Amino acid sequence: MNYDEFFRAELQSLADEGNYRHFAELERRQGDFPRARHHRPDGTKEVTVWCSNDYLGMGQHPAVLSAMHEAIDRCGAGAGGTRNISGTTHDHVMLEQELADLHHKPAALLFTSGYVSNWAAITTLASRLPGCVVLSDAGNHASMIEGIRHSRAEKIIFKHNDPQDLERCLAQIDPKRPKIVAFESVYSMDGDIAPIAKICDVAEKYGAMTYLDEVHAVGLYGLRGGGIAEREGLMDRITLIEGTLGKAFGVVGGYIAASTELCDFVRSFASGFIFTTALPPACAAAARASIQHLKQSNSERERHQNRVAAVRRQLDIMGVPHLKNDSHIVPVMVGNPVKCKMISDRLLQDYGIYVQPINYPTVPKGTERLRITPSPVHSDEDIRYLMESLGAIWSECALARGVAAA
Ligand SMILES: *Cc1c(COP(=O)(O)O)cnc(C)c1O
Repeated sequence: MNYDEFFRAELQSLADEGNYRHFAELERRQGDFPRARHHRPDGTKEVTVWCSNDYLGMGQHPAVLSAMHEAIDRCGAGAGGTRNISGTTHDHVMLEQELADLHHKPAALLFTSGYVSNWAAITTLASRLPGCVVLSDAGNHASMIEGIRHSRAEKIIFKHNDPQDLERCLAQIDPKRPKIVAFESVYSMDGDIAPIAKICDVAEKYGAMTYLDEVHAVGLYGLRGGGIAEREGLMDRITLIEGTLGKAFGVVGGYIAASTELCDFVRSFASGFIFTTALPPACAAAARASIQHLKQSNSERERHQNRVAAVRRQLDIMGVPHLKNDSHIVPVMVGNPVKCKMISDRLLQDYGIYVQPINYPTVPKGTERLRITPSPVHSDEDIRYLMESLGAIWSECALARGVAAA
């Protein structure tokens, strides 16, 4: 077999569908977010980033940077090993305590990313609880789906954000079997929010564990940034809360927060936890500083919501279709992968605005979109310029205006 020929043909068919992924090579400018330098074949150009998941700009916060610098000077660069073999530093342990406190849980366990935390925790729980069934929301993230697949446990998919359908599924399962209800609070592509209380009602009625991915909510919602479950007073009803340190907290890493026994169980059995080098202590220290800051400061969250509202208002005025939701994610709906990529290319090349197109398989075919994530570091002038640029492209390309269907 000619392997490269095979790879080329597969890539070509991706490209023909408009789904080939082009990466923009950026150099973020500390102190100047949301500005970044875009490296291209013909040189570099300054761009404004409108699609970062560093939702609050914490990746350039002075408290985070000084904690990171301090830890590098104190500990050096890497952790030096897996958590089991000399890689558990004081910074890791303190970060886990900070995370447990954030979610009002007895314990927390750190992973190298949010993806790994979902994959490893779900795999371990679902494969080792005897006869476990996983009830998975239809909109769940790839990291949970892969964890369930890898566990080889039975999986039942319930309709997205639909507690009634969840109940219908749970009612069919032998009451003696262990069950995990896996779902997210804020869904990252549509920005819709789960009915957490109702899902807990149903899960509790059938004796199921609740596994909640709060990746797009931690730092952003709740009085201390504990997420939607904190905002709604539901943290104690969730068996396991999973989050990331790479998005609103602005660093890198993932975690679960749950009972002492559950965290110890995953720590003891999860291959994806055991057999990999721990995060650099400096990352742990930076993440801890970020969490601590956002526990006692609401100004970033308030400004964030203010910017989101301003962007939505302007899109409405211009008639650029976007999905209505109750979160900070603003999906501008295009509905065609080629057009979506073309708009994104034009924004980047001609206007110095970076918004990555979101195409299949990240979203269903026909719902291609530009996912705009306003942040506290976007100014009124940034918003005005984004609107002017989008408006120009929308007119030129005779794209539909109006309200997007939810
Ligand atoms: C990004 C994401 C993850 C993975 O988190 P990382 O820290 O980026 O690996 C998990 N769940 C959801 C819903 C996500 O969007």
